[in-house]
Amino acid sequence: MSDQSQNAGQEATPAAAPPAPAEAPEAPKPVDVGKIKAILEANDSARMRMWLSICSRCGLCAESCFFYLANNKDPKLSPAYKAINSIGKLYRAKGEVSREFLESLEDVIWGQCTTCKRCSMYCPFGIDIASMIAVARAVCYSQGIVPDGLARTTDNILRTGNQMEMPDEEWIETCNWMAEEYGEEIYGLEIPVDKQGADYMYTVNPREPMYYPQDVGMAAEIFHLAGLDWTVPSTGWDATNLAMFAGNKAVAAIPVKNMYDAAVKLGVGAIVITECGHAFRSAKFEGPYFLGIPGGKPPVPVIHSVELFRDIMRDGKIKLKHKFKHKVTYQDPCNVSRNGGLWDVGRELVNLLCEDFVDMSPNRELNHCCGGGGGYIPMGPPFKKRRMISGKVKADQIKATGADYVIVPCHNCFDQINDLNKEYELGVKVVSFKEIITELMVIPESMIPPEEDEEEALAQEEAMEEVSEEANKEASEVEGN
Ligand code: SF4
Ligand code: SF4
Ligand code: SF4
Repeated sequence: MSDQSQNAGQEATPAAAPPAPAEAPEAPKPVDVGKIKAILEANDSARMRMWLSICSRCGLCAESCFFYLANNKDPKLSPAYKAINSIGKLYRAKGEVSREFLESLEDVIWGQCTTCKRCSMYCPFGIDIASMIAVARAVCYSQGIVPDGLARTTDNILRTGNQMEMPDEEWIETCNWMAEEYGEEIYGLEIPVDKQGADYMYTVNPREPMYYPQDVGMAAEIFHLAGLDWTVPSTGWDATNLAMFAGNKAVAAIPVKNMYDAAVKLGVGAIVITECGHAFRSAKFEGPYFLGIPGGKPPVPVIHSVELFRDIMRDGKIKLKHKFKHKVTYQDPCNVSRNGGLWDVGRELVNLLCEDFVDMSPNRELNHCCGGGGGYIPMGPPFKKRRMISGKVKADQIKATGADYVIVPCHNCFDQINDLNKEYELGVKVVSFKEIITELMVIPESMIPPEEDEEEALAQEEAMEEVSEEANKEASEVEGN
């Protein structure tokens, strides 16, 4: 019997489909030279050209870059080499470059530079390599060339106003939830939303409400204990700005505008940025330029948490049970210290909180980048190997201190140092200032919530008082009649 007759009455097995014709390779998109020229012109081309022409190729900047140091001093990783061969070539060719060339830049301008600006401190002419790399990023972004992780977060900002697509309602729900949770530990604790005219408007990194809501709770504990007049905005609460690192100024302007608008509308005294380095850079320094604000100043003063915590502790608004006893070191986030000027404030705060502080070397404005900045962490797995190799400089700095704890007031550095901790078996604990303060703070008697029985008794007492007040009132009314 043939196979055919055996299958009679049954549905015919479909014949194997003929192989699909091979898809024609997509033609490479043409390069929009006009757009590139416009970006080069709009980004202070006179200054860029001047930097490119005065660079004497002396190589003094090479040893300042952790990529160079951690990768066998590969000359191709020296700051000047990276700039000359990216933005330098773009200017020399007047923007008339091939897509292939632009694609070759992706690894250089995102994978070999975190725009930490350390090299500028060592260049005798003060050439700002990071700003040059940032222009090359803008050029590549304009042609659709950008690491996927950064493209995704930029797209999220464009569509939803924040990099993690977290709706405002969820943010407020998280605040309410944290107020309830932490209110069980501290009597009267609230997270005021949209309070008009508060002294401080607190803004966060969306990963806090999304993954670490306790971060919001700890901030509330500190502000409540210190007796601050503060609020969180219901919109414009995301202080981060990964579009800044993707090279898209138009999108980078969105979260900054949202935040400034909220602060102006609420009439607050200052915007406080959570323990995040690049958010501070964006809100305080770059944001006004993204928005074209004359004079380059935010409409409302911007301060970093480190400054506010320092003031609180220095002014004795929060007392500690005792100072932190473990040996600690302090990570100067580039965007808080070198680029934010807060290296002394950070140390003052560490010394107010800890009794055994040992500095890394080098430190302050000369600190090495941890290797996770400039958008490196969200660039994800394709860049992780180099992130770990290049982070060895930071790992060695930490190891040399012999510290058990690293205090890190920056989310990116926090993740990177945690990864380095595993990679190089540093055996340290990475903590934020909030964690140290809330662990050691003394909660005044008046803020210790009454025990449940006591609470019940208190409620009963209040109810009784109300009843007797009511009775007295009625009685006096009767008497008055
Ligand atoms: S900005 Fe930082 S990462 Fe970039 S080249 Fe200079 S030192 Fe290296
Ligand atoms: S230190 Fe300055 S002048 Fe010397 S190579 Fe580097 S960028 Fe050029
Ligand atoms: S991740 Fe931290 S150390 Fe690195 S560039 Fe950002 S702020 Fe600087």
